[in-house]
Amino acid sequence: MLTGAIEAGGTKFVCGVGDATGSRETARIDTRDVAGTLDAVVDFFRAAQERHGAVAGFGIGSFGPLQLDPAAPDFGRITTTPKPGWAGADIPARLRAAFAVPVAIDTDVNAAALAEAATGAGRGARSLAYVTIGTGVGVGLAIDGRTVRGLGHPEAGHLLVRRHPGHGDFDGICPYHGDCLEGLASGPAIIAAWGGSLATLPADHPAWDVLADYIGQLCASLILTVAPTHIVLGGGVMQQARLLEGARVRTADRLAGYCAEWQGDVFDRRITAPGCIEPPGLVGAYMLARAAVAAG
Ligand code: ADP
Ligand code: ZN
Repeated sequence: MLTGAIEAGGTKFVCGVGDATGSRETARIDTRDVAGTLDAVVDFFRAAQERHGAVAGFGIGSFGPLQLDPAAPDFGRITTTPKPGWAGADIPARLRAAFAVPVAIDTDVNAAALAEAATGAGRGARSLAYVTIGTGVGVGLAIDGRTVRGLGHPEAGHLLVRRHPGHGDFDGICPYHGDCLEGLASGPAIIAAWGGSLATLPADHPAWDVLADYIGQLCASLILTVAPTHIVLGGGVMQQARLLEGARVRTADRLAGYCAEWQGDVFDRRITAPGCIEPPGLVGAYMLARAAVAAG
């Protein structure tokens, strides 16, 4: 079954047409105003269908916050984003109007969690947390093949953490909370605190320990609250591979031996980099699309 997938981000929309084996074709569309962005998305899918055939449905993994309560009048819309012009944007409605097929939407990180649990680093995982440390910090949760949604969706990127002394008196940059996790550990927060991304900082710079500790605190909190079998750490900041090992060590330190399931070498197997062949948010969007078609 051919479906369309969209990974909708604040800087780019990645669109793909494909099936369960992967994408036939993808395109990157720079995010601009709502109408211009969605016109370009629709144009891509129109042209791609000429080449590959009609798609049966669409899945969207989107930046948020999103209204995910099916009973809400604004179901599927972006809600309170500070991104200019995007509050209230209705991506599913634009696709339904253009193509008259089922459309499903979830958060980008929930979609990525679904994908990593099905075909990625946690293949077969019953419960998986997907973390992105990038422009923001986000956490998606997939449990038994479904994503976690409640009143809103998880926002664990804004958890409060214990400050690391190596951060000095840095205030943090979250416009809501200052020194929440995102305010301390996102890519822009690293640049604000130390003047450059981790890629530019020497190996003995204190930033490495500080970051590993914050990510370890997040992993420990996730283990204590949702008992995931796997935690997948993605996003631009995690491109720095040595951060992964530091995060595992600090997770173990923070748990301090408390969880019987988290002992010895399980940290290496259960806290990993992403494993999907394509970007996990896109793979998850295809899964959402197939589920939407199956549901009618
Ligand atoms: P987005 O969150 O917008 O999807 P990314 O996940 O790529 O995008 O995150 C972008 C952030 O990650 C930027 O703040 C950047 O400084 C940081 N970043 C991107 N690539 C790297 C890298 N290779 N090493 C360290 N930091 C990186
Ligand atoms: Zn915050």
